[in-house]
Amino acid sequence: MKNIVFCIIAFLCIFGRGAFADANESSQSNADHAKSSPSVVAHRGASGYLPEHTLEAAVLAYNQGADYIEQDLVLSQDNVLIVLHDIHLERTTDVEHQFPNRAREDGRFYAIDFTLAELKQLHVHERANADGSLVFPNRYKGQAAFSLATFEEHIALVNTLNQVRGRNVGLYPEIKAPAWHRAEGKDISSQVLTVLKRHGYADADDPVLLQCFDFNEIKRIRHTLNSELRLIQLLAENSWQESNNDYDYLKTNEGLAEIAAVAQGIGPWFPHVYDVERSQATSLVTDAKKHGLLIHPYTFRADQLPANMTAPQTLDILFKQLEVDGVFTDHTDTVVGYLRRQRAETD
Ligand code: CA
Repeated sequence: MKNIVFCIIAFLCIFGRGAFADANESSQSNADHAKSSPSVVAHRGASGYLPEHTLEAAVLAYNQGADYIEQDLVLSQDNVLIVLHDIHLERTTDVEHQFPNRAREDGRFYAIDFTLAELKQLHVHERANADGSLVFPNRYKGQAAFSLATFEEHIALVNTLNQVRGRNVGLYPEIKAPAWHRAEGKDISSQVLTVLKRHGYADADDPVLLQCFDFNEIKRIRHTLNSELRLIQLLAENSWQESNNDYDYLKTNEGLAEIAAVAQGIGPWFPHVYDVERSQATSLVTDAKKHGLLIHPYTFRADQLPANMTAPQTLDILFKQLEVDGVFTDHTDTVVGYLRRQRAETD
């Protein structure tokens, strides 16, 4: 796997300034348009093309012109931060074949029950459903050996690429299930802040946006752990049981005011900002803007668009009608290409 990464990085270093000059220029002009240019957040890396959260997916997203690369974070048994979307392993790795006796009573394999050395033995594959079928049937089907990576490996990768390419691509880490980690005896947020600080990320103007679904944890990060980093409160449906928060309340004016007292922005689900059936915006965007909150909806997927909408129509709604500040996307290249065309039309 390391060989693959090094090959990709070497390829980038050698050809990056020529063949991929467009992506480079795009980021330069992003800096020039800092106020008006929305942020493109690579959701689990270039997950539309390569298995999510691998270093390879991060490299591809970087080269597609992402402004931020997302890292979902969970802890291993030996307290190492792993870039992994679920607290479970079996939907994106071959854990059930390599460690068949390590499931809990519910039949699931938890990353927190494995050491980093064990996790590094696993092979990462495209996300599968419980029955083994692929969640996105038209995505990557190759057989390359992808591995799990640590948060520090992802940070080092982005930092190295930034030095090589003269860019300032940011990190967009998400603290997963902090209350669950605490019940398992681990304080994941403290460890995330410690690792970020070790790599020079601690201040409000550093290129990091730290996200979490759990508003209690967002408040704790700000007030108890005293972080000055910019924070993003993710919004969910109560039925998803992401935390014990009342997301219906957090979406009200009072809730948004509470969020704005500690965080810099919100990460709403697309249907929270736009009612597709009625073809109209909800009030959330205008309400959030009144409180000065950044709005970064999730998730633009070119292969899973809202009903009866094309990719350009969806992006027009986000950027022309709602004027959001950024978007999480599995397809960074599609969004970067769209925004570049918009700039060319208006310049
Ligand atoms: Ca996430």
